[in-house]
Amino acid sequence: MINKLISQILPHMPEKLIWQFSKEYIAGKTTEQAFEASRELNRNNTLVTLDILGEFIENMDQAKDNRDQYIDLINTMEATDVKGNYSIKPTMFGLLLDKQTCSDYMRDIVATAAEYDNFVRIDMENSPTVDDTIEIFRRIKAEFPKNVGLVLQAYLKRTRSDIEAMLDLKSDEADLNFRLCKGIYVESPAIAYKKYEEINAHYLEDLEFMFQSGIYPGIATHDKPLIEGALKLIQKYNIPKDRYEFQMLYGVTPKQRQSLADAGHKVRVYVPFGEHWFGYSTRRLKENPAMVTHIVKALFAK
Ligand code: FAD
Repeated sequence: MINKLISQILPHMPEKLIWQFSKEYIAGKTTEQAFEASRELNRNNTLVTLDILGEFIENMDQAKDNRDQYIDLINTMEATDVKGNYSIKPTMFGLLLDKQTCSDYMRDIVATAAEYDNFVRIDMENSPTVDDTIEIFRRIKAEFPKNVGLVLQAYLKRTRSDIEAMLDLKSDEADLNFRLCKGIYVESPAIAYKKYEEINAHYLEDLEFMFQSGIYPGIATHDKPLIEGALKLIQKYNIPKDRYEFQMLYGVTPKQRQSLADAGHKVRVYVPFGEHWFGYSTRRLKENPAMVTHIVKALFAK
């Protein structure tokens, strides 16, 4: 009900108003602002993964521009003291328009990060993109085994078999590094679990399978029961602290994140920034209607 209402109101809300609430979840519009936010996180014993906002582009000029922006970001960041890596979204490089060029552009970004011995995570988008994203991941991983990872979504019924099918990519020299999240897109019940309990149960099953298989997981969640479940698995399998990390979104549950970092777990924050903040913000708003209260507050704040 509230979701429907939000979808109806969103297109009519002024951008300025949406920015008022978005700025809590977005590190800024410029690279320098993203570095500032990252330094603050680093000071609190937290790593970052930087994400330039933008997705589902309309032409391949935008794709090339996005590639160039990421390459600039990497070259600039590697010359600073910021500690972190990079996250990219395939549709930002034209996955739905020209798969081969998209794959080449993503490869160029990973190649740039590899020059600095750093790492790029390929985010997972909605279900029609999953097969192509895995295919591109495989291609890039074959060339840069240590410098690329992927995201998997626990709400998709296919995820366990996707993990199993990718085990052939694991080797002694290079980890398989998967971020596990619940999944944020609206998917049909034919292919996705929809209930909170079902998604959580599969999340922990997938995570356990990753530990059993020697995969390095990025445990991406703010959900307390899942964090507790993950900690139990870490204990059960006696997983060393350098064989997993927790990941959370910028601006979300900072206290929870800090208590994990203070307890000595590796924690990484996903830091989105850039001019194209609008799509990211409205998607999060639809996902988490509780955030509407922020907008209402912003309406009355001066
Ligand atoms: P939920 O049950 O949704 O949330 C648990 C609690 O966390 C909520 O009650 C609330 O208190 C808090 N919370 C969660 N989200 C928010 C929010 N946005 N604002 C304020 N409070 C919040 N999804 C993809 O589909 N593909 C990706 O590549 C991807 N990458 C991600 C990377 C990271 C580092 C993280 C943390 C998430 C990513 N996601 C991605 C999103 C993810 O799939 C979930 O939609 C999102 O994290 C919310 O799920 P949750 O596990 O936190 O649990």
